[in-house]
Amino acid sequence: MNALQTIMLSCAKATEYLNLREEGQLNTKQSLQLKLHLLACKTCKAYEKQSEILKNMFGAYSEKQSKPQKNEKFKAGIKAKLEDL
Ligand SMILES: [Zn+2]
Repeated sequence: MNALQTIMLSCAKATEYLNLREEGQLNTKQSLQLKLHLLACKTCKAYEKQSEILKNMFGAYSEKQSKPQKNEKFKAGIKAKLEDL
């Protein structure tokens, strides 16, 4: 087994690490191993992208949920400006 194979993760391990990273439970060595694997493995890179898209969708969703509040602030800002005129 060469050095590269020793540090390379299997795809199963890599996806497991991706999930762990999501939860912030990856140590430095593991995150380095994961990075290396993602550089070499298109499949896991695609998986990473997909989970990022999902995460962004959820992020956009929760942002939508909090929007009314932002709108209130925005309206208040406009009102304040109008009162200044
Ligand atoms: Zn892989």
